[in-house]
Amino acid sequence: MKRIVVANLKMNLVLKFESDGWVKKFVQQKQTVSLDKSEIVICPSPVHLANFVEELKSSGVSIGAQDCFWERKGSYTGGVSATSVKSLGGEYVILGHSERRKYFGETDELMALKLKASTNVGLKSILCVGETAEEKKKDLTGQVLNKQLERCLNNLPQGQLDRLLVCYEPVWAISSNNPTSPPKADEIMTARLMIKKILVKKYGAKLAERVRILYGGSVDQRNIEEVCFDTGMDGVLVGKASLVPAEFLGIAKKIEEN
Ligand code: 13P
Repeated sequence: MKRIVVANLKMNLVLKFESDGWVKKFVQQKQTVSLDKSEIVICPSPVHLANFVEELKSSGVSIGAQDCFWERKGSYTGGVSATSVKSLGGEYVILGHSERRKYFGETDELMALKLKASTNVGLKSILCVGETAEEKKKDLTGQVLNKQLERCLNNLPQGQLDRLLVCYEPVWAISSNNPTSPPKADEIMTARLMIKKILVKKYGAKLAERVRILYGGSVDQRNIEEVCFDTGMDGVLVGKASLVPAEFLGIAKKIEEN
C-alpha cells in the first residue's frame, strides 16, 4: 500500500498571491516526484479549496478540507458542509486536530458526529488523536488515546472503516508548540501499537487492518525515516514543512526512494 503524505496548510497562504504562488511552485516541482509509493493529499483553507482542486486536477494529488460541520446544510453560520467539500472535488477531511480542539472548543463527541457526516458523503477522514505535554508527563498517553478513539468512533459504522485514517499527533510535538525534538521512533511505535490494539479490540483484527495510521508533529524530510519508516507508519501529516512545496515534496521523494 502507498504511504500517504498529507499537507495541513492550516490558516496560512492567506493572501491570494501566496496561495497562487504555492500552487504554481508545487505544480512545477511535482514533476520530479513519481508517486509510485506515495500518495499526496493537500488540505488548504476552505476558501482556497475549489481553486486547489481546479489547479491541481492533472497533478495526481488529492485535495482535502481541514474540518467540516456535522449537519449537511442549514442555519449554521460559518460552517463548512462535508457535502460541499465533496461536491467541489475534495476527497479528504482532517478532523479533531488539536488546534480545532484548543481554539474552537471541539470535543470528541462533536468529532463523532463530524466523522459520521464526512464518511457518509464519501470523504476519507483523518482523525487526529494525541496527548498534551502535561498528559505525557503523567504517562497518560495510552489512556488519552483510548478515551479519544472510543468517543470519536462511537457513531462510525464498521462499513465506513475504509474511509478512516487515524493520525497520532502528540500535541507537544507540533512545531508551533516549540518541541525540543519530535518523539523518538520507539515512542511513536508504542503509540501506533496502542492505537492498533484499540482498533482491534473494537472491530476485530481483520476490519482494523483497513484503518491507516499516520504520524504528525514536526515531520520534515530529515526525520521522515525515523518517524515514519522506522515506526511502520502508513504516512504522515505535515504542517510547517508543507508551506514550502520543495520541502513538502522532499518528504514524498524520500518515500519514493525508501
Ligand atoms: P507541524 O508539522 O508544523 O508540527 O504541524 C503538525 C500539524 O499540526 C499537522 O496537522
